[in-house]
Amino acid sequence: MKIKLYSLVLLLFFGLQGYSQECGTIFGQEDIDRIERNKIRIAEGLVKSRAFTYIPVKFHLIATTDGENRVSYSDVLDQLNNLNRSFHHQEIQFYLEDSEELFNEFDHTPSYNDPRSGGANFRMNSQRVNNAMNVFLVGNIGTGPGGIGQTLGYYTGSNDWIVQLKSETNDFTSTLVHEIGHFFSIGHPHLGWESDPFGDQTDERGVPAPSFTPSGGLTERVDRSNCGQAQDRLCDTPADYNGIWFSGPCVPLNMPAILDPVGDTIHPQANNYMSYFGSCSSYVFTDEQKDLITSDLASPRRNYLRPGLAPPLDSIVDQLQTSYPQDGQKVQNGEPITFDWEDVPNAKYYLIKIAENRSLRRNLQQYIVEESQITLEDFKNDQTYYWTARPFNSHFAPLEAISVRSSFITDDITSIRDLEEIKAFEIFPNPLLHTDLEVSFITTQILHDAQIQVTDLTGKIMIRSTIGDLTAGTQNISLKLQDLSGGHYFVQLISAEGILSRKLIKL
Ligand SMILES: [Zn+2]
Repeated sequence: MKIKLYSLVLLLFFGLQGYSQECGTIFGQEDIDRIERNKIRIAEGLVKSRAFTYIPVKFHLIATTDGENRVSYSDVLDQLNNLNRSFHHQEIQFYLEDSEELFNEFDHTPSYNDPRSGGANFRMNSQRVNNAMNVFLVGNIGTGPGGIGQTLGYYTGSNDWIVQLKSETNDFTSTLVHEIGHFFSIGHPHLGWESDPFGDQTDERGVPAPSFTPSGGLTERVDRSNCGQAQDRLCDTPADYNGIWFSGPCVPLNMPAILDPVGDTIHPQANNYMSYFGSCSSYVFTDEQKDLITSDLASPRRNYLRPGLAPPLDSIVDQLQTSYPQDGQKVQNGEPITFDWEDVPNAKYYLIKIAENRSLRRNLQQYIVEESQITLEDFKNDQTYYWTARPFNSHFAPLEAISVRSSFITDDITSIRDLEEIKAFEIFPNPLLHTDLEVSFITTQILHDAQIQVTDLTGKIMIRSTIGDLTAGTQNISLKLQDLSGGHYFVQLISAEGILSRKLIKL
């Protein structure tokens, strides 16, 4: 609900009908009642536990019925990262509820395009889970309460879920933080003026605002005499009538002044997560807003968010190192590719992204795996690809941990023909720890000038053993590789007739 473009702000400043980006949450009487119940709990002496609170969240990744257009996994992980940075100072951490599945995916064009429609609600109800905060990520929502502008997200108390545009699902906008504020009963500071801002018309400036908001509640006064009963019912969020005029990013324009009903000039808090002011460098919740979150979390309505066991996993601090393919490496056209990387401490999952351009967008493929490798096929011939791997767990998906992006090129690299004279070429043990490596194979014809060599993934020869001519029969050769450091290698049998290769992991 932050207006993100300064040019848009200027449009509004000059009194034109602007294209605004808004929140679609409508606070009804039940929501107001919930604020009041939470305030009573605060007044009775709510005690915030001193430990972190862990809140399970279920992201629903909705595609159109043909399975297309779904938000990307990496955007959802970025969103988790964003939430945990934004709520860290409140000692709240969100985590992916992954007891059955990491994300819920379903394909339904009405939910994707019009999540407030009856058909969408029916389907979304069938998909919601009862042990986490439900966040549905969609392609389109429509207009805001005033009938103008683009709605970026909303919370609905009757369904108790949040809907957000997939385009707002990222590491930098605060739309979901704002909607989570609503989820925990916080209203807009300009509650009551959503559909009809006061101060956005020239003749509204410099004259006292009406005593009641367009939706019928009390207009909040600057002197705080009615702050507990007016608008968002909080006293540390100053009067705000949604008159979105700016003198600069994050700066409300105060000339001509917007006046409260008794003539005092209002000074809205622009950098509040729940306001509509855009382009602030950072946002905050006030202490009373934080108390509402704590109180709502402690209420019976939120029992389902307290599963009893909050498994706080450790953070991921190490950047992932890829092993294969290495940057710039050529891989054989038409062959499956086993992508391989080093285990990262505390990672439970890895997100692999492979695409045909450096920005990882063209023909992007994404996979989430729990092992530290994945074998994929059907790559184009003679094509350059780029890939990254991102370690994460249900609690942490830091951007810093993503591997350096590297490239590989599919190509025709078996110019040396495979050794068809060899059967049953085996190496063991593999992975190899401290023992010698045994290489065995059967030659069906005589081989000339045979050698066995071990190379790293770039082709650098680490060890070479000359064998000479080999007659037909079963061969067993032992290699001492104790000095080889841990990693991934190729063991190659080379002769004048051709080459055979096996991949080796040294622990
Ligand atoms: Zn809102």
